[in-house]
Amino acid sequence: MLEDFLRLLIKHNCTFISVDELLDPQTRLNPAKNYICFTVDDGYEDQTDALLPVLLKYEAHPTLFVITDLIEGQLPWDARIATAVQSSQCKQLDVAALGMPGERVLSLKDKRQFRRQLSLHAKRLEKSARSKFVADIEAALCPAQQMDVSRYTPANWARLAELESQGLVIGSHTCAHNPLSTLTTSDIHLELNNSMALLNQHLSAPSKVFCYPVGMQEDYDERAMAVVREHGFIGALTSEPGYYVASKARSNAFAVPRLSLPATLNKATRYASWLEKLRATN
Ligand SMILES: [Zn+2]
Repeated sequence: MLEDFLRLLIKHNCTFISVDELLDPQTRLNPAKNYICFTVDDGYEDQTDALLPVLLKYEAHPTLFVITDLIEGQLPWDARIATAVQSSQCKQLDVAALGMPGERVLSLKDKRQFRRQLSLHAKRLEKSARSKFVADIEAALCPAQQMDVSRYTPANWARLAELESQGLVIGSHTCAHNPLSTLTTSDIHLELNNSMALLNQHLSAPSKVFCYPVGMQEDYDERAMAVVREHGFIGALTSEPGYYVASKARSNAFAVPRLSLPATLNKATRYASWLEKLRATN
């Protein structure tokens, strides 16, 4: 499916560039062209083994934004919630006892929906409250600590360096994947400093673009954007859906929207026709 999508984009004369190139003020973009940037978030092994090699094969100039704690072997809070829910034998959980507002008992019948409810609550907590909530969830859902983490195998530095030598650009998605809006300003500085220090230690040329954890509008604020700018990044990516229109003065390089990869080729065809339309109206 991904290869079909890439071939479709090539057929529609799309130009692949890296986000670093897109957001570099020195880059001269041709307004008559459709540019596409591919970005991948987090840094799991299936991404470095299956997804990124395909993007590199088609010279799609992908960028991978890694959670450095994950590469160092520590699962981020949201993957821990997902793992606990997936591995749990429980039928329901008294979430009010864990401090969640609203309904007292939630069913695990629809595990996806249940995980989403837990993550939405957890992401809004401040850092230490989030850590405690996640530990409580694990203890309540998997008391025997039999968690199946096989779906969350992290990539490793050697593999990342190898892919970098093949053209992959790798950037910071922080250390611990906490939404920046829930952190103190000094914690935001630490997340940026420590993640970049590791990237610089293991790689030759990390991305100058940053990628907000979680990335919806409530997950990064003006303060976070200012700190990211202060650290010398040339831009930052959100998870808000949309196109980045480089020629528009109003478009903010520190809140660049993205579109998720279409799930089917049918949807992908629609993307491609939107791109055609976008160019026609330019
Ligand atoms: Zn992420």
